[in-house]
Parts: sequence; C-alpha cells; structure tokens
Amino acid sequence: MSEAMQKVPVLIVGGGPVGLALAAELGWQGVRCLLIEQGDGVVKTPKMNEVNTRSMEFCRRWGIAEQVLDTPFPLSWPKDVVFMTTLSGYELGRVKRPPRQIRASEHSPEYTQTCSQHWFDPILQRFARSFPNVTLHYRCRFESYEESANGIVATVIDLASGARETIAAHYLVGCDGATSAVRRASGIALAGKGLLGHAVNMFFRAPRLLEICGKEPGTFFVPVDRGGVWANLRIIDPANALWRLMVNETHSDTRIESVDKAAYLRRALGRDLAVEWVDINIWRRQSVLAESYGSGRVFLAGDAVHQVSPTGALGMNTGLGDAIDLGWKLAARLQGWGGPKLLASYDRERRPAGARAVGSATQFHALQSGWGDGLEALDEIGAASDALRQRISDVLVNQVGREFRTMGLQLGYCYEDSPICIADGTPPLPDDPETYQPSARPGGRAPHVWLSPPDSNGGRSTLDLFGRGFTLLCFGNASDGDVFQNAAAARHLPLDIIHINERAIGNAYEGKLVLVRPDGHVAWRSDAPPRDVGASLDLVTGF
Ligand SMILES: Cc1cc2nc3c(=O)[nH]c(=O)nc-3n(C[C@H](O)[C@H](O)[C@H](O)COP(=O)(O)OP(=O)(O)OC[C@H]3O[C@@H](n4cnc5c(N)ncnc54)[C@H](O)[C@@H]3O)c2cc1C
Repeated sequence: MSEAMQKVPVLIVGGGPVGLALAAELGWQGVRCLLIEQGDGVVKTPKMNEVNTRSMEFCRRWGIAEQVLDTPFPLSWPKDVVFMTTLSGYELGRVKRPPRQIRASEHSPEYTQTCSQHWFDPILQRFARSFPNVTLHYRCRFESYEESANGIVATVIDLASGARETIAAHYLVGCDGATSAVRRASGIALAGKGLLGHAVNMFFRAPRLLEICGKEPGTFFVPVDRGGVWANLRIIDPANALWRLMVNETHSDTRIESVDKAAYLRRALGRDLAVEWVDINIWRRQSVLAESYGSGRVFLAGDAVHQVSPTGALGMNTGLGDAIDLGWKLAARLQGWGGPKLLASYDRERRPAGARAVGSATQFHALQSGWGDGLEALDEIGAASDALRQRISDVLVNQVGREFRTMGLQLGYCYEDSPICIADGTPPLPDDPETYQPSARPGGRAPHVWLSPPDSNGGRSTLDLFGRGFTLLCFGNASDGDVFQNAAAARHLPLDIIHINERAIGNAYEGKLVLVRPDGHVAWRSDAPPRDVGASLDLVTGF
C-alpha cells in the first residue's frame, strides 16, 4: 500500500467467503471497495462444502453459477447421506439426494451444490477481482478503528513489511469470522447457548475407499454405534480420494498431537486401513448470535455475527445472505438512491434470519445426541439385531436426516418486521424448515417460475429479472408502470418495469403489481398503484 492514507468508500475486513461475496456484490454494483485479509487467501482444506440453493441463486444472479458446477466434484456422483454401523458394516438408512447434474429444483432454477471451500473461495476471489473497483489485499491485518461523523479511519498492519498504516473509508464491514476484531472493537457482544463442544476434523487420502469397504457411492457417511451418532465421513474430492473424518466431540483440552487418528478411523471404517493423512484441526461448535449487526458506519456479517453448528449447512450460506442484503444497501446509499434509514434495515432484516439459522442448526445438532443406549447389538448378526437396525433406520432417516431436508429454511425466510417492506395484510406463512411454500408476500423471496421452459442450456426464471436496481412486475395495466417509472426517475432510483402476460407467473405472484428489490425480496405488492407512489418508493429505499 502507498505511504499516503488510502481512502475507499467501503473497507471490508476478512477474505473468507462472506467478505469475498460482499466485495463481489459491491464490485458488481459498481462500488469501489478494499478487502483486507490477514492470510494469503489459499484454502488448504475446506470447512464449508455445501453451497445451498439460495446461495446458488446468488451465484446465478452474478453469472458465476456455471463455475460452481464446473468444479472437479463429479457431476454424476450421488449426494446421498448414508447412515451405517461402520463404512464396512451394515447400511442403516440412506437419505437420497440427487447428483450435482440435477441443476434445478421444483422451487428454484438452481439446486444445492457440493462445492468445497478450496474450490468455492477461489471462484469468489476471481469474480471479485474481475471488477477494477475491487482490491483484495492479502497478508494485511485490521487492528482498530475510529469513527467520526464523516467516516472511519482504520489502522492496519501490512504483515509482509510490518508497516502500520491507516485507511479512511465511508463504511467499515467486519467479515472477519468468529473472533472478529471489528466486532470486539465496536463493543458488540455475542449471546446464546455458547459453546456446544469441540470437534476434530481429520483429512486423509484413501483411493478406492468405498470399493474396499463395500459401500455404494454417497457423499456423507454417518457411523452409528454404541456411542450413538459420533462422527461423519465426507468425501471432499473423489478424483483425488480426499476424505474428511469429523469426530463430533473431543475433550476441551484435547491437543492435535494427542488425537489418535488411526483409532478414530478404525472405528469409522470398521477395519484397519493405511491412509495418507493430510491435515487435522480442532474447532469449536458454537451457537451464538451478535446482539447487533452494526450501526452508524460499521457493520458485521457472516460468522462475525452468527456462529452455528455445521448441521444444516447454514453457516456460510446465511453469511452470503448477509453480504447480498448489506451489499445492495451500501451501493444504494453511496450512489445516492438509498436514504438515511436504509442501512439500519440491515440489522432488522438479517438478525432475525441469523437467529433462525442459529436456532435450526442447534436443533439439528441436538437430534444427533443421546443415541448410545441400547445399541450394543447394532452390528451383530441375528433377527433381534435386524429388528433393532430397522427401528433405528427409521429414526435416523426421519429425525437425524432432517438437517438434509431444508428447502423451507433456505428459501422461506421472510423479513417480517422490515422497516423497508410494505406489508399487504396477508398473514405470515408457516415457517417449516423442510417445506418451502412459494409466496410473493412482501418481505419474502420472490418466487421462481420459468419464463421459458428449461432445456439443456437451462432456461429463464423470474429470478433472472431481478438485478442491481428495483424491478416492477406488471401483470395488469401497462399505464400503471408509467406512474412508477416517473416517480423513480424523479428520485434517480434504478427501476426496471417488466410487463408479464403469463398466467402461471401472475398466479404465483398474486398481485397485479409486484415491486422486487435488488436482492430478489418483495418490497411491496398490490392490484393497483398506491395513492402516493413516490412516498412508497421512498419508504422501500430508506428515505
Ligand atoms: C466443519 C465445518 C463444516 C462446514 N460446512 C458448511 C457448509 O457446508 N455450508 C455452510 O454454509 N457453512 C459451513 N460451515 C460454516 C462456514 O465454514 C462458515 O460459516 C464460513 O466460513 C464463514 O465465513 P466468513 O467469511 O464469515 O468467516 P471465515 O470463513 O472465518 O473468514 C474470516 C476471515 O477473516 C480473516 N480475519 C480474521 N481477523 C482478521 C483481521 N483482524 N484482519 C484481517 N483479516 C482477518 C480470517 O483470516 C478469515 O480468512 C462449516 C463449518 C465447519 C467448521
């Protein structure tokens, strides 16, 4: 960095997936930003592996969904979840999940993809870097900041040179993970159940492991024995035979050097096998939410504000939702079409979404506990053990397996009490984690309906209509759109008016006029324009 103090509109601290997504969103929206990251940006072994359907929709919105599909995890590989006594033992039940080549789901033009972080983060890095207004600065650590009425000044250390430097910005966003220095510097506390336990991740290479152990392909294998649901085995990279064994619980004082990897592996595989150990780490399973997502000129996103058990794959995926929500609001504010109340809506919308993710992930984790009793004969031959396995199978697939059926959680969140959405008097829908009920109710995600039928090149979805500015879908009088267009033009608000005649889409949206935000959430809907269109546009943009 140069000697003179740098000045940027937005300074992002942390180059994990959430910081990268925010940088990408700002770049895509035409906003200049600087991201600083203390590490070198290389992901050696992944934490995150599942990019869920909603996150894939964000990738589609940015035009990078194809890149996620193009990663080395084979498209035809089944994503099944398999409960078993050991990898060489009895299969107890299977949660069927389609392979990656199934691109769309009933409610989305995209589908959850297995794309581990050592592939996903570089896609986000490349995408963010493709914008000349985005700078990613690695080996640079945030230390502290001071805030004034005009902006913030952050002190950072360039770890390569050791030099301490200052950066001035209009806004500071901490995407710096669980131990967030920005959160601590802003005095924001975490609340919740806290520490749920310590887990250990062991990465190894084992060619032909499934063949050796006699199991049909799947992606996630859960051994169950007299210790209950005690671990899981995930195939990370089939082409390179890379696996991860995660042991759910170790003692709080366990040190990496004292972990008996071979013993854990023998227990999971049900046999001895020589493998190439690649990496090991111990991590804290937390259930916490920040008391605030920021205020003034300082905001927080991702693990800095919500730390969840990985059960349900809601960590990064919730963080990407934060990045999109905050990203368009910062862009609107900096470009002048967002009002002074817009940024305060970030906390009001995303904190309940974070609470929902923390609560759900914690419940999924609890479903794995308390399984040990009465399972001594689970791996034995005989009618009594057959019956025990059958009984356990139902519970495993239907209860423990719930964390793999989360379409409601992924797509069904609604910003109920948002100050920038205009309620239409319809009652809230049931918030069922498993089942998503499409609805264009204000606050919710605008539903997906195909505009053109999907073919081998995909198809066009209603979701493809939403973008950097607002979109008004008109199912009725063409002249209604003109009223909005004039009011938007007077406010320099980017607004696309789209006239749609297709009945299926009109039925799904249930209103002749539906105003959709840049993040694809519905801001307002009705059968006729409001009496004061300008006042409504002001409200949904935070004026
Ligand atoms: C075993 C496991 C499996 C998981 N699987 C999934 C999954 O399948 N799907 C899912 O959605 N989530 C999953 N998660 C959760 C997911 O990994 C996290 O939610 C996600 O990584 C959070 O992203 P983030 O960018 O907020 O934070 P992080 O990934 O923690 O990134 C924060 C970055 O900030 C940097 N940083 C910190 N302090 C500073 C500083 N002072 N200055 C500069 N840089 C700093 C750090 O170096 C780091 O790179 C999993 C987690 C675990 C542990």
